[in-house]
Amino acid sequence: MNKPWFDKIRKIKPYVPGEQPNKSNVIKLNTNECPYPPSPMVKKALRDYDTDKLRLYPSFECNELKDILAETYNVCRNNIFLGNGSDEVIALCFQTFFNSDMPILIPDITYSFYDVWCDLYNIKYEQILLDDSFKIKKEDYLKKNGGVVIANPNAPVGKYMELCELEEIINYNKDSIVIIDEAYIDFGGKSAISLIDKYDNLVVVHTFSKSRALAGIRLGYAMCGEDLIGYLEAVKNSFNSYTVNSLTQAVAIACAKDREYFESCRQKIIKTRERVVYELSKMGFETIQSMSNFIFTTNPKIKASFIFDELKKQNIFVRYFNKPRINEYLRVTIGTDDEMDLFIEALKKIINYYF
Ligand SMILES: *Cc1c(COP(=O)(O)O)cnc(C)c1O
Repeated sequence: MNKPWFDKIRKIKPYVPGEQPNKSNVIKLNTNECPYPPSPMVKKALRDYDTDKLRLYPSFECNELKDILAETYNVCRNNIFLGNGSDEVIALCFQTFFNSDMPILIPDITYSFYDVWCDLYNIKYEQILLDDSFKIKKEDYLKKNGGVVIANPNAPVGKYMELCELEEIINYNKDSIVIIDEAYIDFGGKSAISLIDKYDNLVVVHTFSKSRALAGIRLGYAMCGEDLIGYLEAVKNSFNSYTVNSLTQAVAIACAKDREYFESCRQKIIKTRERVVYELSKMGFETIQSMSNFIFTTNPKIKASFIFDELKKQNIFVRYFNKPRINEYLRVTIGTDDEMDLFIEALKKIINYYF
């Protein structure tokens, strides 16, 4: 029998992140982390960190970090909102901006956290079908709504939408807030940050978890007009005032200053990605054109779930979504060249065994 308090408890189906296997000899291509370590400046910042300062609360304004980011993106400090990972930033955006009776619009295949936040905050949403090539059809977003959320490049397919098409969506939807989640924009796409001065309904979200190799520090940020920043800050400060801890601030400042390392890291990943796509094509895989640090690939002759299981037996972790429309695809994070060579060798063996 249920306990008396059972009915009073909020029940929700949470987002399930990719597995973090607790073994050392795995090739981890399942959560889109960066395969390279963070900038060496990060190590230095931690070594030089005055631990006595941990006694104090962190800087509330985070101005030093905001100033570096403002300089990087050619925006003002007042256009930046920081959070504990971009997941937190986007969740706060949902809570702050989506309070309409109209549903918000999200693609049917996209980051699977969006519908979880809708459930969490009781936000109505409508899933808009991608076309058969997994492309976002901009026309479908030109209608009344309570908000729009688009990941560009989109996850888990990796496809990028041209900025001019995205701008049409932003421009049409001046009555609602449009969030562009650019977690993967550094791997080849053009950012919508250049549009935040032009559109006061636009919010662009970035993260340190992918291209900056700092998933462990949990830092994300939104960039938008000052008015929206004010509303976001008010909601955040009604929940937790010190979201970005002192160590995270110090590490992120050191990382953001080292632009050269950032450039070389993302270029390496782009180069490896193109090589892997070519190798896979020789083995009969069809890969969606990716502008991300992962690829979405299918082999019409072999079940994706079979490849997933076989790779796992060899300690190679990729991501498989058992969902309609995408259950014959694998999402594979781009690792180092050595890791990807081992991945390709393993695939060759699996294919030989299968036939
Ligand atoms: C990884 C990812 C995030 C979350 O990143 P964190 O900053 O680590 O919370 C947000 N959106 C998309 C599409 C992602 O893939």
